[in-house]
Amino acid sequence: MTDSLNTADALPANPAEVAPERDLMSKFDGLIAERQALLDSGVTDPFAIVMEQVKSPTEAVIKGKDTILLGTYNYMGMTFDPDVIQAGKDALDTFGSGTNGSRMLNGTFRDHMEVEQALREFYGVSGAIVFSTGYMANLGMISTLVGKGEYVILDADSHASIYDGCKQGNAEIVRFRHNDVEDLDKRLGRLPKEAGKLVVLEGVYSMLGDIAPLKEMVAVAKKHGCMVLSDEAHSMGFFGPNGRGVYEDQGLEGQVDFVVGTFSKSVGTVGGFCISDHPKFEAIRLACRPYIFTASLPPSVVATAATSIRKLMHAHNKRAHLWENARTLHGGLKAMGFRLGTEAPDSAIIAVILEDQEQAVMMWQALLDGGVYVNMARPPATPAGTYLLRCSLCAEHSTEQIERVLGLFRAAGQAVGVIG
Ligand code: PMP
Repeated sequence: MTDSLNTADALPANPAEVAPERDLMSKFDGLIAERQALLDSGVTDPFAIVMEQVKSPTEAVIKGKDTILLGTYNYMGMTFDPDVIQAGKDALDTFGSGTNGSRMLNGTFRDHMEVEQALREFYGVSGAIVFSTGYMANLGMISTLVGKGEYVILDADSHASIYDGCKQGNAEIVRFRHNDVEDLDKRLGRLPKEAGKLVVLEGVYSMLGDIAPLKEMVAVAKKHGCMVLSDEAHSMGFFGPNGRGVYEDQGLEGQVDFVVGTFSKSVGTVGGFCISDHPKFEAIRLACRPYIFTASLPPSVVATAATSIRKLMHAHNKRAHLWENARTLHGGLKAMGFRLGTEAPDSAIIAVILEDQEQAVMMWQALLDGGVYVNMARPPATPAGTYLLRCSLCAEHSTEQIERVLGLFRAAGQAVGVIG
C-alpha cells in the first residue's frame, strides 16, 4: 500500500516536468520602480505620511514639524469634540474594545442601535443600516440591490467603492459621462423598459470638488423608471437646511431612494451607512454579504458616531464657518492665478490642477516643508489624467490658518513656477 502523504509520489518522476513557479509579485515591478524614482529624487513619499502627533482637527506634527492639516475631509472638525471623545471612553469602559462578531450574530450592541436611531433622526427617515466603512456600504448596497438581468448606471467619475460595488454584483453596468444629464437620458433610453435599474450618483465628486446636477439627474432617472442611490460622503453636515447633503440642498427629499454616507469625514470616526424610507429596507440586512460576513464596528466607534451625528444636527455656526473658509481659500487661490477644479467654491474641497507629476510633487513638497499638508492625487484616481493638490477645509480652521495657507501657496506656486 502506498503512503498517500508521501509528497514524493505527487511529483512527476522527471524534474523537467515541474512547472516553473510564476512570481505573482512581479506585476508590481513598474509600481515599485516608479516609487523608487520618486524617493530617489529626494522628496517625501506623499503616500507614506505619518501623523506623529495630532493636536487638533487642523494641526498635526509631521516629520517633527507643526503642520496645518488641509487634506483630511474632517469637514466639521468633530474628531476632538469633548462630548464625542467622552462617549467613546464611556463605551470602552462599559462595553469593551470590540464586538468580536457580525451584526447578524453577536455584534449588535446598544450603541449600534443608538447610532442607527441617530441617523434616522438626522435624515428624517424610517430606515438606517450601519456598515463597517463607507466603502463597504457602497459595496454592499449596490451589489445587493441590483442583480442578474438588472442594470446599474453610474457616473464615469464615480468613487472606487461604487465601481467595486458594481463589480461585486451581477447586474449589467452602464456608465455615463461625468455630470452629463443628456448622456444619462440617452443611455437610459436604450435599456429595456421592464428591467430593474439603479442610478448611482454622488452629491459632491471628491476629486475636483464639483457637485452633481442632482435635480435634473433624478428627474431623468425617474422618467425612465429607475431607483436612485446618492453617495453623500462629502456633503453630510453642511449641505441643505439640515445638513443632509446635496440632495436635500436641491430639494430632492422623498425622490432619492437610498443615501449612502460615511462616518470617516464629517462625523469624525470610521464607519459607513445607508438610509432609506423604503418599507422593505430592513431586508437588506438579510441578504447583503458585506454587512453579514464581517465584524461590526467597535462600541467606542459607534458611540462616538452617535454623539457626533446628534451634535451635527445643531452645528449651524460650524457650517457657516466652513463655507466662509471655502470661499476665502477658493477666492484667494483663484486670485493668485491657480487653475482650480471648480469656478466657484461649490463644496469644501478645492482642487488645484497641475500640469504633470513633477510639478505636483514639487508643489506638494514645498507646501509640506512650509507647514501645510494637502492631498496629492494622480491618475488613475483622478479624472482626465489630471494631477491634483486637493485641499479640504475644516470648520475649525481659523481665519489666520487660512491666511497662512494662502501665503504658503503663493510662495510654493512662485518657487515651482506654477504662478507668476
Ligand atoms: N464614497 C465616497 C464618494 C468617498 O469619497 C469615500 C472615501 N473617500 C467613500 C465612499 C468611502 O468611505 P470610507 O472612508 O468610509 O470607506
